[in-house]
Amino acid sequence: MNTSNENQYINREYYLCMSKNFQRSTNLLQQVYEKQVVLENIFIRDITAYGTVRVNNCSFDKKVSIRFTIDQWKSFYIINAYHSMYYADSNTDSFQFKLTVPIDKLSRLSPQNSISIMNISFAICYAVKGEEFWDNNYSRNYNLEIIEKLRRQIAQDYQAISNEFRQIGNICGLKNLGGTCYMNSVLQSLLFTSSLTNYFLLNENIQDSTMKNISVSKEIVASEYLNLLYLLYCGKYNVVTPAPFKQVIGHINHNYLENQQQDAHEFLIFLLDYLHKDLNRIKFTEVLNQTQEIERNAVNQINNHSIIVDLFYGTYLSTITCLDCTYTSHNYEPFNCLTLPISSTNQCTLEDCLRHFNEDEYLSDDSKWFCPGCQCLCNRKRRLEIYKLPKILIIQLKRFQINYEMNWIKNNTLVLYHLHHNHLIHFIQLLIMMVH
Ligand SMILES: [Zn+2]
Repeated sequence: MNTSNENQYINREYYLCMSKNFQRSTNLLQQVYEKQVVLENIFIRDITAYGTVRVNNCSFDKKVSIRFTIDQWKSFYIINAYHSMYYADSNTDSFQFKLTVPIDKLSRLSPQNSISIMNISFAICYAVKGEEFWDNNYSRNYNLEIIEKLRRQIAQDYQAISNEFRQIGNICGLKNLGGTCYMNSVLQSLLFTSSLTNYFLLNENIQDSTMKNISVSKEIVASEYLNLLYLLYCGKYNVVTPAPFKQVIGHINHNYLENQQQDAHEFLIFLLDYLHKDLNRIKFTEVLNQTQEIERNAVNQINNHSIIVDLFYGTYLSTITCLDCTYTSHNYEPFNCLTLPISSTNQCTLEDCLRHFNEDEYLSDDSKWFCPGCQCLCNRKRRLEIYKLPKILIIQLKRFQINYEMNWIKNNTLVLYHLHHNHLIHFIQLLIMMVH
């Protein structure tokens, strides 16, 4: 075996593409009832195909697996799909799978020093009630091509438009995909948060070690975020279409699959959560050994450490006082978003909102609390204060409230803030809410 050639292949980068564009079925349910199992959706990032399979829910015990080959079925691999959702209205289940090209096996197949196009073929097996049902794309199998990766592939995926004739500094815009202004406004806010962006772009360790691992593993959100950052900051483009990023997000949360409006605040918290998971420096096994340490440190309650925790997480001090005996208990809670109430006046300042936030909240009647001081169920008051500020404070203004008729009403109070407080506020994410 020639080791140097072997290494040459391993070091090469590949990407996958569909041989023919996959069309989502227009009569999915009808097909599911006929065939029991149907490939509902598939998309590709780098060398991984992410698929969703829909099956008829004939029995509780069921298993969905993918059988694939890279050598025209001389040998094959089996991967299991995992259950993701039950649809009560149609009595069907969806399963998801992740098919990653086994790069280390490619070197055996490809002739030395030349890259021919290689194929992956796969079919889906649904095992239920002792029977096997297959979706093999009407006996043609589903086919994916493995092609050597080109740098410009990312730009093509994002339909990046060159800024050759329109140089406006390094500013690059995100195209709206319909009702996706919620996503673009959150992305722009985060992308312009220099400490986070510098972490991705300037920290070579991240790109060399973490991100290389990320691109072939499950950490797809951080990996895709880096692709987007690369396009926005490389200075070559003035518009990109963030459809691939939305596909990744939509794969995790189906609500983001369509081009409808969503709540920007929820999306921001969702995105931070997934970036944190992907960039977590502490693995779960290590955390288990540090249980006592975690109890001592409120921020560790969220299980770990990442740039997201370092930048966006602060600590609340919650103080509960018994109204009968004045017994007081303290609790520390991590937070990544300061949700502030707004008073119903024409205008107020952010400081007014903060004062309002720090006011005692009287919890009584239906939420009695067992007081360790007087050993009985008591009324109590709660005060929430910021114990430790995050480096970047996200403020959400509570613009929407439910009135006594159970309708959402918007508080249009003008909230003023002063830019000289920008050591406190790097950006303010206002709550955007869809009214159905
Ligand atoms: Zn008490």
